[in-house]
Amino acid sequence: MRDLADMAIHTITTKPWKLDTALEKYAQAGITGVSVWKESLEGFTLPEARSLLETSGLKVVSLVRGGFFPASSLAQRMKKVEENKQLIDTATAIGAPLIVLVCGADPGIPLQEARKQIEEGIAQILPYAEDKHIKLAIEPLHPMYADARSAIVTIRQAHELCIKFDSKSLGIAVDVYHVWWDPDLEYQIEKAGESNSIFAFHVCDWKTPTLDMLNDRGLMGEGCIPIRTIRQWVQKAGFSGFNEVEIFSNRYWSMDQDQYLSMIVKAYEEHV
Ligand code: ZN
Repeated sequence: MRDLADMAIHTITTKPWKLDTALEKYAQAGITGVSVWKESLEGFTLPEARSLLETSGLKVVSLVRGGFFPASSLAQRMKKVEENKQLIDTATAIGAPLIVLVCGADPGIPLQEARKQIEEGIAQILPYAEDKHIKLAIEPLHPMYADARSAIVTIRQAHELCIKFDSKSLGIAVDVYHVWWDPDLEYQIEKAGESNSIFAFHVCDWKTPTLDMLNDRGLMGEGCIPIRTIRQWVQKAGFSGFNEVEIFSNRYWSMDQDQYLSMIVKAYEEHV
């Protein structure tokens, strides 16, 4: 059996489980890291969540997710900045060292303008994050989400922002689901590695056909993404953190989660 010392899981992956159950099950399965979705904190106070995380023995990899900066009015954009600052406080409270940023987009806002608003949003929260020693990882999303979720769609764009801000607290979350198609992927990973900008690595698979744009991700090995090859590129670029399993799937959420978790561990051992 493969060592799971570098395996983490996102709580959204087993969405039907509450935080306490999820942590207990992950630890029992030998998984060593967890990324906490803010939705899974509902029903717990922050000190309760922190204590559950600490006693689980799992290492907290990240808090997911902030960002969503673009909006049509200044008041809404300011509200989003405030929400991101609150999320930084939440990360501090539960002991998460990093926040994943899904940068946002709005079908009513041209992409160039959305990208400007993203840059302005990051500029407003980055000093706060630096102050609190919380890292921010820009996650480029697959271009099919450029209408409403992220105007940042490639590692190159994310890296350009990192270079512009030149902060040790700003980096990139590389998620194979979002970037596997990029013809420049190996090169962009190498460049991002040169500036130590790779902060996180997420895995799942791309199914053919994909039946739902959001909630039909595959288990590793179930689709066409060369996960192990991309992991090797990321490691060659100097990344030594967790391989984080992050799967949104109506199909898997509807099945027995204990059985699903064993399938996840097996898929991880065979394909990551
Ligand atoms: Zn991800």
